[in-house]
Amino acid sequence: MQYALVNGIKSEPKKGLTGVCIGCGNQMIAKCGPVKLHHWAHCVNVQCDSWWETETEWHRQWKSHFQEEEREQTFYDEQLQEYHRADVYTTGGITIEFQNSPIALEELLSRERFYTQLVWVVNGLKFKGFNVTEAIPNPRETALKDYEFTGTSHLAFRKTDGRSADAAAQTISIRHPSLRHIKISSKHFTFSWRHPHMGGTAPKHLFLLTQVGISSIGLGYLSSIRRIFIIYK
Ligand SMILES: [Zn+2]
Repeated sequence: MQYALVNGIKSEPKKGLTGVCIGCGNQMIAKCGPVKLHHWAHCVNVQCDSWWETETEWHRQWKSHFQEEEREQTFYDEQLQEYHRADVYTTGGITIEFQNSPIALEELLSRERFYTQLVWVVNGLKFKGFNVTEAIPNPRETALKDYEFTGTSHLAFRKTDGRSADAAAQTISIRHPSLRHIKISSKHFTFSWRHPHMGGTAPKHLFLLTQVGISSIGLGYLSSIRRIFIIYK
């Protein structure tokens, strides 16, 4: 982990420091060796968060785009009777998980059950079998302000305020007259995923950005997407 409590303060690891786990409250020791990323480790092997993935530079860089208080937020799972640390939990209540390696479908579903507003950011460089089908408009496009992508198999949008009514009926394609003028950016693509690594429920459409960019897509926009897959360069 990147954080533990030292004298009650959320702190990064430094050589010689000890602290306590923000989740389970057990003793932690700062590991600041020359090889692995500096991190906190539990002093004894405790069942703290079975979902936690060993952190890489890739995780740390993503997390660094967010406020420190939004990183590594801990929640108690009554059902599994353990703590879970969200990589990022925004002040707007969105959990963002940065996934650098494939995970079991069962775990994926259980995380989605636990975090009601969850966005996945997966290291797209590790996944093969993508088929880029078409460019998509820049998500910051002002004409799309009142729209969100739908979960259909085509590049389609719906009015963000249309959720309570029949959402399907309000779905419109990017070729619709009201959206036709919007420029399609070669930096943003939608694509289908031929051989999903995570089982049959993998999304039909994912998002691929050619540069890192939580800030370039905006959190309001993120909240309307169930999962995004991004290549980090
Ligand atoms: Zn712990």
